[in-house]
Amino acid sequence: MHDKIKSRSRRHIPAVNKVLEALDAVDLPRPIVVAMVRHELSALRESDKIFTFEDVFERVLHALDRHVRSRLQPIINGTGVILHTNFGRAPLSQTALESIAQMSANYSNLEFDLASGQRGNRAGYLEHNLAILCGAESATVINNCAAALVLIVSHFIKTKSEVIISRGEIVQIGGGFRIGEILESSGARLREVGATNKTTVRDYAQAIGPQTALILKVHRSNFFMDGFVASPSTREIAQLVKKRRIPFVVDLGSGAMEPTAEVAPAQSEPTPEEELKSGADLVCFSGDKLFGGPQAGIIAGKKRFVAGLKREPLFRALRCDKLGLAALQATVDLHLRGAQSKIPTLALLRIPKDELRARAAAMIERLRGLPAQISIGRGVVKVGGGTLPRSTISSVAIDIVPRDCSVNEFADRMRALTPPVIGYIANKSFKLDLRTIFSSQDDSVVDAIRAACTAASSH
Ligand SMILES: *Cc1c(COP(=O)(O)O)cnc(C)c1O
Repeated sequence: MHDKIKSRSRRHIPAVNKVLEALDAVDLPRPIVVAMVRHELSALRESDKIFTFEDVFERVLHALDRHVRSRLQPIINGTGVILHTNFGRAPLSQTALESIAQMSANYSNLEFDLASGQRGNRAGYLEHNLAILCGAESATVINNCAAALVLIVSHFIKTKSEVIISRGEIVQIGGGFRIGEILESSGARLREVGATNKTTVRDYAQAIGPQTALILKVHRSNFFMDGFVASPSTREIAQLVKKRRIPFVVDLGSGAMEPTAEVAPAQSEPTPEEELKSGADLVCFSGDKLFGGPQAGIIAGKKRFVAGLKREPLFRALRCDKLGLAALQATVDLHLRGAQSKIPTLALLRIPKDELRARAAAMIERLRGLPAQISIGRGVVKVGGGTLPRSTISSVAIDIVPRDCSVNEFADRMRALTPPVIGYIANKSFKLDLRTIFSSQDDSVVDAIRAACTAASSH
């Protein structure tokens, strides 16, 4: 049948249902397959190349494969980047997962007060516990930290228009998210002070005027500057603004709840509690960075400011869904109970190297005889996600140099597996860092390496 198609004129295009029949095995909803076949056939009709049934089939299969692979799915993270924005940031704790499952399968008291039987406060329990965790008068939660900034800025610029911010802090965080653009989109005028590398208290003092709505300090979370660099501390700025009654907000980004110097010796992330004690009126940070919870923007600080933010119509538009609230509530309680070891992000940071090395050795033992050179290598872990940019944590990797294909080809093969395994290439080796691979995934990783090596040798 294929030969027949080939021998006819190129105008003859295989019938859609012939191709569909051949694609029956593809695990996609029928309308998606049909649309893809139509799309590829019409693309072929427009080209003036001669094509066969196999050409069509290959093209459609390739397009479908790309589409299936773009479906959201778990991956195994061998990059050693603990908080990877591309990989969904913090993996959730078991308690958070159970909480999500229960909240999503059942009705809940989301906005219902069980004591009075009346309408209740959404996230009341969570807000109360968060405030205590942050050492704050009050706290609330919205969709993410960028949303927190938008809400805060649009709230405070009602009567005055300017937000004072240091030039060294007008930064870009991740893809397409610039602090300056976020602030301006909220209608604020930026009053930039200081220079990129140096800002003094006097710079702030001189910029304060009748139009000053807010002073914003942004934690430089995804890069660091070294050398001739200075900026005033939170305490110094707080002292300056206290008498003038100007709201002072610190965007912390990462949300470290405990001093991080112990795990990442080069630097310590300021905690919300420290910043509030130093005189910030409000702090905001992400729920899914070092806090180790779901995507969320946490705001903590002065009660009257938090209450004001919650009255904004924008607060309603930016609110969290119940599943996020359930996961965050569980994560907050783990922090409060001192159960950080149950929060995966924090647990991964602390795994001793000996433990990683023992896992690597056991895995390599099981990979003998493959057409590749496989050994224990050094790993360098980055916290990532705009957190602790200066710090790396020493780690352990499995280094693979395949014999029958290039390392790039090997990386492609590992990504094509189910679940996909993502590593990185350094010193001509394909590397998998064990710190970001859960020990429960070791078997899958062994299988994956074996599969990728075997695919290489059959080529
Ligand atoms: C990551 C980060 C944000 C953005 O947080 P999202 O929760 O991703 O919206 C804002 N500010 C700082 C300083 C950050 O590090």
